Amino acid sequence: MEQDNNKSLDFIRTIITEDMANNKNEGRVATRFPPEPNGHLHIGHAKSICLNFGVAKEFGGTCNLRFDDTNPTKENTEYVESIMEDVKWLGFSWGDRLYYASDYFQNLYDYAIQLIKDGKAYVDSLNADQIREHRGTLNEPGKESPFRNRPVEESIDLFERMKSGEFDEGAHVLRAKVDMASGNLNMRDPIMYRILKQPHHRTGDTWSIYPMYDFAHGQSDSIEKITHSLCTLEFEAHRPLYNWFVDELGIYAPRQIEFARLNLTYTVMSKRKLMQLVTEGQVSGWDDPRMPTLSGLRRRGYTANSIKTFCDKIGVTKHDSVTDVALLEHSLRDDLNKTAPRVMGVLNPLKVVITNYPEDQSEELDAVNNPEDESAGKRKVPFSRELYIERDDFMEDPPKKFYRLSPGREVRFRYAYFLTCTDVIKDESGNIIEIHCTYDPETKGGNAPDGRKVKATIHWVSAKYGIKREVRLYDRLFTDPDPEHNKEGKEFTEFLNPDSLTVLKECYLEPSLADVKPGVNYQFERLGYFITDPDVSDDGQTVFNRTVTLRDAWAKAKGR
Ligand code: ATP
Ligand code: MG
Repeated sequence: MEQDNNKSLDFIRTIITEDMANNKNEGRVATRFPPEPNGHLHIGHAKSICLNFGVAKEFGGTCNLRFDDTNPTKENTEYVESIMEDVKWLGFSWGDRLYYASDYFQNLYDYAIQLIKDGKAYVDSLNADQIREHRGTLNEPGKESPFRNRPVEESIDLFERMKSGEFDEGAHVLRAKVDMASGNLNMRDPIMYRILKQPHHRTGDTWSIYPMYDFAHGQSDSIEKITHSLCTLEFEAHRPLYNWFVDELGIYAPRQIEFARLNLTYTVMSKRKLMQLVTEGQVSGWDDPRMPTLSGLRRRGYTANSIKTFCDKIGVTKHDSVTDVALLEHSLRDDLNKTAPRVMGVLNPLKVVITNYPEDQSEELDAVNNPEDESAGKRKVPFSRELYIERDDFMEDPPKKFYRLSPGREVRFRYAYFLTCTDVIKDESGNIIEIHCTYDPETKGGNAPDGRKVKATIHWVSAKYGIKREVRLYDRLFTDPDPEHNKEGKEFTEFLNPDSLTVLKECYLEPSLADVKPGVNYQFERLGYFITDPDVSDDGQTVFNRTVTLRDAWAKAKGR
């Protein structure tokens, strides 16, 4: 097995290592990632993808992509396609192992017939309310349906007629005959099939009955000879039922192992809630850069690498916990720090006029593309008499600890010169509209030959050569670290952050960013990491999304 020796194995990899040592399944390892195509994938799914594909790779096994498409009312091909795109983007390949639970509808039907014939399943003609009443509670056993002991032939006949579309939805269901007194509610004669007069995105109008997830999932794993069926903790109580089905059917039995879901602070993670944000227009779509979907994170500027590193860091356990979203952001900064080219851009521009710099003069200065990567080389940045700096890099009456530009103060303009502020120009209402500086020609490149020091270095963009672009700044989508739980009946949407998006239409960027494609990451010096968006602004120009600022709350909290 390919494994980092310094890392101890998590409980799942420990089990698989033991199974292999015992030559279980002839030493074969087969996993699968089984999304239901009823929404787009989110960062929680990435944990499952990294685990399933990761384990397969490490143990020389295989990982299938299987769509668990048993509910035609909620599923469609748009989701199928986006899920495949997201898995590929993360860098995983299912090769020729793409499957659909719907491919097994005939097998599942045959299994159902087998169970009816064996006296292990029956058609129940109670309605949904009655079935619920009969089910009992955690403290009370359930009651058997009066149809539980109907003759096998009658069940077969009714089930076939359910299939042929003779009955209305809800008229009958097929149930497993397990144990209405079981302490595990999943074992109280669970429904295996229901009538649904709905076309399916793959099987069309072929079926009027569809298997329940609980009847489809384990058998799909079995058909694919999955050795280790890895799923999240909420399926722990379903495991006895999955085992019951494969035992009764006498078919290959995969081993199910449950692990804890990923939960993140300041994030909602259920597809249903993410869907609600989209349909209510709280966000611009599933790929809104504030969404925890893989398409949203990608558009926000997350790299596949950073997500995989993050999944590696959080590991897999059996205990429910909540991960600090700052760790995800930390993994991203770590990755982008190594790879993102540095550029200069000004988000809230204030004009600077260099009064001793000739009006018709300009020059190209050398700027380092990535101090973390010498091979990234250098580029030229144009400098001229009029520049833009960040408004908050200037203060007319600075407090003690403010070292940036202020009247009479000399600071370094990155890669350029030392400049000293000489004048502040205001409009009639007293707003600062520009500032005047002088520069010291001896300090080209940002160092004084006489060795004098300045306390601050600020970024800038040439007013003459800079390009004007729209920049979108993002903050957390929710103001509460746990918007989903324990909130005295409050809807999670009540915790939406009204300031999660700020659009700045007049930012000035260095001209090297004039013709860039969508989806390229940059670091704007001092401001954070940015990525070019697929959208264009009203004037047809590239839009830049801020991915994250440079402040790493995680590293800071951990003293790194
Ligand atoms: P949601 O609850 O967000 O709607 P789901 O579990 O219904 O998600 P599926 O399409 O059924 O979504 O999930 C596919 C796989 O991804 C399953 O094996 C599921 O256990 C896993 N998965 C879903 N959410 C998470 C999560 N937050 N952390 C880890 N794995 C997850
Ligand atoms: Mg699900």
